[in-house]
Amino acid sequence: MLDVRGIDTYYGETQALFGVSLSVAEGEVLALLGANGAGKTTLLRSVLGLTRPRRGEIRFRDRSITAWDTHDIARAGVGWVPDDRRLCPTLTVAKNLSLGIKATGFRSWSVDEVTDIFTALKYLMAREAETLSGGEMQMVAIGRVLLGSPGLVLFDEPSQGLAPKIVDDVVNVIRRLRSEGVASIIVEQNADVALSVADRAIVLSRGQIVWQGAAGELSGDPALRHSLLGGLQ
Ligand code: ATP
Repeated sequence: MLDVRGIDTYYGETQALFGVSLSVAEGEVLALLGANGAGKTTLLRSVLGLTRPRRGEIRFRDRSITAWDTHDIARAGVGWVPDDRRLCPTLTVAKNLSLGIKATGFRSWSVDEVTDIFTALKYLMAREAETLSGGEMQMVAIGRVLLGSPGLVLFDEPSQGLAPKIVDDVVNVIRRLRSEGVASIIVEQNADVALSVADRAIVLSRGQIVWQGAAGELSGDPALRHSLLGGLQ
C-alpha cells in the first residue's frame, strides 16, 4: 500500500528526517512512536505532500507520489486525521462531514455508516463544529476521513485529550478499518493505545528509525520499551 524509501525531509535548512524507510501493507496498522520532536508528524506531512522530502521516494499503490500535490494524494486514497482536527468551525457537523465525501476506488462509507459507528453524531448534525467537545470533534474528523474512501488513514495523536470512552471508540474504528482492508498509521505519544491496536511498531528518535518490529514484541518487553520510549506511556 505505502512504501517510503530513504526520505530526508527538511524545514528550511534544518533536517527533520534522515533516510527513513518503511512500508505498510493493505489492512495493516502501524504505530509510529517516539518522543516530542522525533519526527513523527514530519513523516505524516511528507507522505501527504505537505512537507516534501528533499531526497528519497514515497510510493502509494506502486505509484511514485513524492512530487504529487496534497489534493492528488488525498484523491488517490490517503486520508488524514490531524491532531488539531481541522474542522471548519462555523459550518455544521453535516456540512463538515459532506466536505470529506469523495470516491477513490477504495471502500466507500456512507453518512449512515459513519453515524452507526459514532451514534452521538446523529444528534449533532445541525450543530456548528466550534460548539462541539474535543471528543465530538474527533468523531467528525474521523467520519470526514471515512467519507473520503481512504485506503490508508494517517492518524496524528488520535487519543490526545480524549476521555477513555472516546479513545475506545477510536481504537474500534481502527480495528474496523483493518477488517475492511484499510491500512492505518497511528502517531501516538500514548504508546499503550497505539500498541493495543497496531500490528507493527516503529520507534523514531531524532529523525531516524531506531527500532521496528511486531507491536506485541514492544508491548510485552518492559525493558525494551523503557530503553526506547523512556517515560512515554
Ligand atoms: P510532537 O509529538 O512533539 O509533534 P514529532 O515526533 O511529531 O513530535 P515533529 O513535529 O515531526 O516531531 O518535529 C521533528 C523536528 O522538526 C523537530 O526538531 C521540530 O522542532 C522540527 N519542526 C517541526 N515542524 C517544524 C517547522 N514548521 N519548522 C521548523 N522546524 C520544525
